[in-house]
Amino acid sequence: MESHNENKGYIIKSAEFLTSAGSRKEYPEAVMPEIAFAGRSNVGKSTLINCLVNRKKLVKTSNTPGRTQRINFFEVNNVLRFVDLPGYGYAKVSKKMRAEWEKMIEDYLLKRSNLCCLVWIMDIRRDVAEFEHNFALWLTQNNINHINVLTKADKFSKSKQIAQKKKIALKLNIDEDLLITASGIKGTGKEEVWEKILNFAGVLND
Ligand code: GDP
Repeated sequence: MESHNENKGYIIKSAEFLTSAGSRKEYPEAVMPEIAFAGRSNVGKSTLINCLVNRKKLVKTSNTPGRTQRINFFEVNNVLRFVDLPGYGYAKVSKKMRAEWEKMIEDYLLKRSNLCCLVWIMDIRRDVAEFEHNFALWLTQNNINHINVLTKADKFSKSKQIAQKKKIALKLNIDEDLLITASGIKGTGKEEVWEKILNFAGVLND
């Protein structure tokens, strides 16, 4: 299905579900650049992906907690892929499920040859959880390119957004400029996220 519209950042000609994988052997062939997306469950990851590709329901929002977790691959414009990693951290999941999640994510992020960058999503309203802090460190230690997005910004006033961004940067011990304020519902930050994605992917915006 074609859609030529108001897309800020990158013209989306096509965005389609490709496949879903429960383990490495089910990954599609590594033939084009991949951009992965991760964050805690309910952070707004599906909404942000849908916003980036101008689709309302390419990725189903609000997955049921505790379900078998899989990695979903989507193809955009036949030149790059979005890879939706399972959300982290339902309070109720068992230790076993958490360990499975970690293994799945690590397997993908550390070994996927065509991974260009990870879009790491946090909720601007929430304090940085210990897990998020550790994960950010882990990304840096393992030289995984990443784009930090603070989503749901529309729920805060502009001044609150600025204050919270400062606070989160401090907590993560990174420069504020490395945090993109966004809203998957309003489309805020979309242009900036796309610019970074295309840069990492080496794809021209033509
Ligand atoms: P996921 O579990 O990370 O994929 O999160 P979803 O995209 O399903 O979003 C979880 C809930 O947060 C849903 O009710 C969304 O409508 C809401 N949500 C997601 N992004 C935003 C946003 O940018 N602004 C607001 N106000 N709500 C959002």
